[in-house]
Amino acid sequence: PASGHGLKRVLLKLSGEVFGGGKIGIDPDVVNGIAKQIAEAVNEGVEVAIVVGGGNFFRGAELSQRGMERSRADYIGMLGTVMNSLALQDFIEKQGIETRVQSAITMGQVAEPYIPRRAMRHLEKGRVVIFGAGAGMPYFSTDTVSAQRALEIKADAVLMSKSGVDGVYSADPRTDPTAVKYDSVTFDEALRMGLKVVDAAAFALCMENRLPMIVFGMEGEGNVARVLRGEKIGTLVHA
Ligand code: UDP
Repeated sequence: PASGHGLKRVLLKLSGEVFGGGKIGIDPDVVNGIAKQIAEAVNEGVEVAIVVGGGNFFRGAELSQRGMERSRADYIGMLGTVMNSLALQDFIEKQGIETRVQSAITMGQVAEPYIPRRAMRHLEKGRVVIFGAGAGMPYFSTDTVSAQRALEIKADAVLMSKSGVDGVYSADPRTDPTAVKYDSVTFDEALRMGLKVVDAAAFALCMENRLPMIVFGMEGEGNVARVLRGEKIGTLVHA
């Protein structure tokens, strides 16, 4: 096995929120730090595909609450994920690792179109593949897209990063002081308890297809490298 968890190919979901370092936009130091950790894992032999969120720029649901048409707001959200993808690509390549961005919305000047079989070929060659623009469809989230992309490129697990929370809890730890963190939980339990840390659609897709998910926090030092390497952090969600 390439790494501690025996996972050869993983889909890493990076929450967009951290890319901004707490602000709107991109904090190059933060993205560089994440890129270095990804490069470490790739050099150790893990095949890494990435879905990047866009919460540091725009969230469609928030824009639509303030009067924008939901679909258009969601497209703005998706374009934000492409900006994050290009930033991440730049910093990973500075580490000497080849990368490809594949966008679900065609924009040939900056990214390949989403072609799953080509993505798998890139991964076999040791390239990092970054999926931008989500699913290219409004009303979806990058969490759900992560599960879908992981299934389509035959990843062994989805590594779902979160900011502000370090795993799956019995209730929202930001509002409920009695919340306890699970080391592992089934998709069924997570869905029945209505735990909102990850979209229900993403949980359901993984459950139906028996694809394991690890939910972990971005806040700990080196957490991306640790989860890629197979250290037991966060919560394992399983079928
Ligand atoms: N989005 C979308 N379809 C997708 C993926 C994303 O419409 O397939 C939009 C949606 O508006 C979302 C925004 O892009 O709010 C940014 O993604 P997300 O909120 O999932 O980012 P994260 O919270 O992970 O940073």
